[in-house]
Amino acid sequence: MLSTTDFTPMLEAVCRAAQLCQRVQEKQVLDVEKPGREPVTIADYGSQAILCQALTQYFPNDGVIAEEQGEHFLNALPEEQRQHVATLVGETLQNVVTAEDIVRWLDHGRGRTTQRTWVIDPIDGTKGFLAGRHYTIALGLLEGHLPVAGVLGCPGYGEGMLVYALNGEARRVPLAGGFPERIRVSMRTPKERFHVVESVEQQHAAHDVMQQIYEQAGITNPQVLRIDGQDKYALIASGDADLYLRISPKADYRERVWDHAAGVAVITAAGGTVTDKDGNQLDFSVGEKLANNMSVIVSNGRAHDHIVRVAQTVIS
Ligand code: AMP
Ligand code: MG
Repeated sequence: MLSTTDFTPMLEAVCRAAQLCQRVQEKQVLDVEKPGREPVTIADYGSQAILCQALTQYFPNDGVIAEEQGEHFLNALPEEQRQHVATLVGETLQNVVTAEDIVRWLDHGRGRTTQRTWVIDPIDGTKGFLAGRHYTIALGLLEGHLPVAGVLGCPGYGEGMLVYALNGEARRVPLAGGFPERIRVSMRTPKERFHVVESVEQQHAAHDVMQQIYEQAGITNPQVLRIDGQDKYALIASGDADLYLRISPKADYRERVWDHAAGVAVITAAGGTVTDKDGNQLDFSVGEKLANNMSVIVSNGRAHDHIVRVAQTVIS
C-alpha cells in the first residue's frame, strides 16, 4: 500500500504534465502522423516524459505500460521537433533535458513483469486536444493487475481539476492547487434526469446504439454531455454525471488499458461501478488491450445491473 507521501510526487508530475499540455494547446499544435493509429503530438511525448521521469526517480523498479514509444519519437519526429520536446520538458522541470533523456524516459519500465505497474496515457483524447476541446492526463497504478490507484489531470474540467484515488478514497483538487475534497458518485436513479457522458468522436462511440440503450433502460430524456478522454470518468466520480457507455462502432475493437486503468481506480474509490457489457470486471492482466472485455459501462452503481442486462440485449 502506498502512503500519501509516496504518492504525492506522482500527483505533482501529473500537474506538471498538464501545464506542458496547456502551454502547447494554447499555441498552434502540429500533429505527427502515426500511420493507421490515433494522432500524436509533441505534447503527448512531453507529457509522458514528465510522468516517466518522476517514475525513474520515485519508483525506479516498477513496470510501466505507456502509450507512446521512444522508437517512434526517434523515427517519426524530425530533429527540430525532438529538440522542441526536450526544451519544453526542460522548462517544465526547470532542468537541462536532452532528446536522449526523452527517449530513455519514454521507454522506462516497459516490458517489465512486476507486482506494481503504472499505466500511462499522456494525453487521452488527443483528437479533442487538437480540436481545442477536453483531454486527460491519465496515470493508473495496477497492483497484481488490479487498478488500486489513479490520477486524472483534467485541464478542461471546471477551472482545471486533478481527480485521484488512493487507498480506497477518491479526491478532487484544482490543478492550480488548494485543499483536496473527498468525492463520491451521485445518488441519481434512471427515473430522475440521468446525466450521461459519451465520447465526442463518432469513430470511438456508436452513439445510436447508446441512445437505444438509454431508451430501453428507461433513461428518459437524458442530459447528454459529449467530452473527450477520461474526463468522463472524473465527472462520474465527482457526482457530476451518472453513466458513461463506451461502445465502439467497430465490433471487434478492444479497448486499450491506458484508456481505463486510472479511471477505474477513481470510480471504484468514489463508490461507482465499472464493468464490460456482460457485467464482468475489466481484466487488466492481458497486456496493452482489454482482450477479455467488450464495451465498457461506467455508472454511479444505482442501476448498473439493469443497464448491463439492457446493453446485452441491444448489442448483438
Ligand atoms: P475518447 O476521447 O473517449 O473518444 O477516447 C479516446 C480514445 O479512443 C483514444 O485514446 C483511443 O485509444 C481510443 N480509440 C481509438 N480508436 C477507437 C475505436 N475505434 N473505438 C473506440 N475507441 C477508440
Ligand atoms: Mg487514450
